[in-house]
Amino acid sequence: MYRREFLKTAASCLGALGFVKDSWGAQVSGVDAGSSKSASAGGNRIYLNQIGFLPDSSKVATVSTRAGSFLVRSLKDNSVALRSTLSAQRLDNASGDSVQSADFSTLKVPGEYRIELDSGVSGDSFLIRKDVYDNALLLTMRSFYGQRCGCDVNLGGKYAHPKCHMDAAFHASSGKTGRCDIHGGWHDAGDYGRYMINSGITTGTLLWAWESYGASLHDFALRIPESGGKVPDFLAEIQWNLQWMLSLQDNDGGVWQKQSRDDFCSFIMPQDELGPNYVIGTGSVPYKSTCATADLAAVMAIAARCYSSYAPAFSQQCLKAARAAWSWCQNNPNVFFKNPAGIHTAEFGDNDCRDELLWATAELWRTTGDAVFHQAFMGMLPQPLATIKIEAPSATQVTSRGYWSYALAGRNRSDAAVAAIQQATLKTARELVHQSSENGYGNSLALEDYAGGSNAVVANHSLLLLIANQFEPDSSHLDCALNNLHYLLGRNCLGISWGSRSWVHTPSSIRIIGLVSPTISLRHGRVYYQMGRMPIPRTRSPRRCRAKRRCVCMSTMSALIPATNRSLVAMPRWCSFSLHFTHNRATDE
Ligand SMILES: [Zn+2]
Repeated sequence: MYRREFLKTAASCLGALGFVKDSWGAQVSGVDAGSSKSASAGGNRIYLNQIGFLPDSSKVATVSTRAGSFLVRSLKDNSVALRSTLSAQRLDNASGDSVQSADFSTLKVPGEYRIELDSGVSGDSFLIRKDVYDNALLLTMRSFYGQRCGCDVNLGGKYAHPKCHMDAAFHASSGKTGRCDIHGGWHDAGDYGRYMINSGITTGTLLWAWESYGASLHDFALRIPESGGKVPDFLAEIQWNLQWMLSLQDNDGGVWQKQSRDDFCSFIMPQDELGPNYVIGTGSVPYKSTCATADLAAVMAIAARCYSSYAPAFSQQCLKAARAAWSWCQNNPNVFFKNPAGIHTAEFGDNDCRDELLWATAELWRTTGDAVFHQAFMGMLPQPLATIKIEAPSATQVTSRGYWSYALAGRNRSDAAVAAIQQATLKTARELVHQSSENGYGNSLALEDYAGGSNAVVANHSLLLLIANQFEPDSSHLDCALNNLHYLLGRNCLGISWGSRSWVHTPSSIRIIGLVSPTISLRHGRVYYQMGRMPIPRTRSPRRCRAKRRCVCMSTMSALIPATNRSLVAMPRWCSFSLHFTHNRATDE
């Protein structure tokens, strides 16, 4: 079944079951209102990045209503800035849509525009500007602040809540007992748990963004409580979660898997989830888990590099924690986590921690240059080296991050290993570029990639592409990475921006496109569901807001290049969703 047909069927069925409220059903039916020229959710069938484009980047819209030519009109003086023909029609396999492309890449003059088809259909306005994505980056980074646990949060307006989850205790599965003073970190995507595995890839990627693009991020003001301090805002926000991660490290170096209640709460505000917030372990000796401990080692090794100039003592604390965690893993390489009895929050289990250990070892070597780490890393490489495979990373599969960190370290390395890593990365990057060319909406997702958290998948594709571009500069890599950003911001079969201030989305669509069941989705998005009894924030396309849907504009993006991964979320009503963004500031420089 094509995705569009699935939407109709699912909306119909769920509506009958009472899951679907009015706006949901209206939105889904709006998706299919192809003959209408209205601007409701993709109703004009011109799909593009709803925020806009960088002047020198490629610019393509996907059109799923038949037309022959198009023009781009400047909204400043109503003049025609560009005329061109649409591509031939072709089938987009994922949606079942017959689509054409409108390529207006040659238009580079900053301004506000819209696309008009010769069939009489007009698209929504968009911008071409050098700083077109800056506000999305700001919102995204502030959304991490919005996810904070254990402190007052005030994003302005009604987006506020007092301290939460201050009542903490060791669960019996942790090997310890009694109350403890462990709080902080970021709430997970939809529930109020905090999970080491998710924190690992999230904070690790954000810190990589800082390492690669710190010059652009140094003065980026996030208006968070730490603003104005010695630590740049970008690092200060990340530090909030790092400190919680450190607090989950036991004295022996091992790291507990997570902190949460025993089960998901209902849709209440975080401060209303009362009772002990448990530090949860494996339930038997040694109680800590290998994957969580190795993830912490990797992230703290990166943090030691990032904070050395701004918070030297914290940097040293991170490095000490990383070394202790790595040593613990040497003695406990195969302690896997399963939810202990009585615990029903997210498990994030993983029965293979070799990738986390590879990543931790590479990062520790990159930070310290110690021979012991180099020797260990080389011992983990497959032989022959040509068998190295690179895949886009995920929360539980971080092998590529280890390889990339080694190849990017800038230390005396094994040339053969670096060459093998680079070649494997470039091979996968070429495959993604090809995949993107086959996709009617220009993104690099294959059919099987449209799963729960698929926005994370597509964003991690972009991370891979940007790393490939560091190895071998190639405009096709950058274009493909940007196409994935365009997908996230509106160039998709639903005409949905997954997180920004220019959007057209409903929770239903977000849920359905991920094929996530209502049962699961109903467990998500609590804080914004409750706080979000607020109108949709300003959008540049007021017509899109007619339905007055209560969506939260804060996206979650981990920002930047080299991309981002953060399971954060745009969380409308019931659901939230793993959302990863890439935001290319580098091409903006
Ligand atoms: Zn909390």
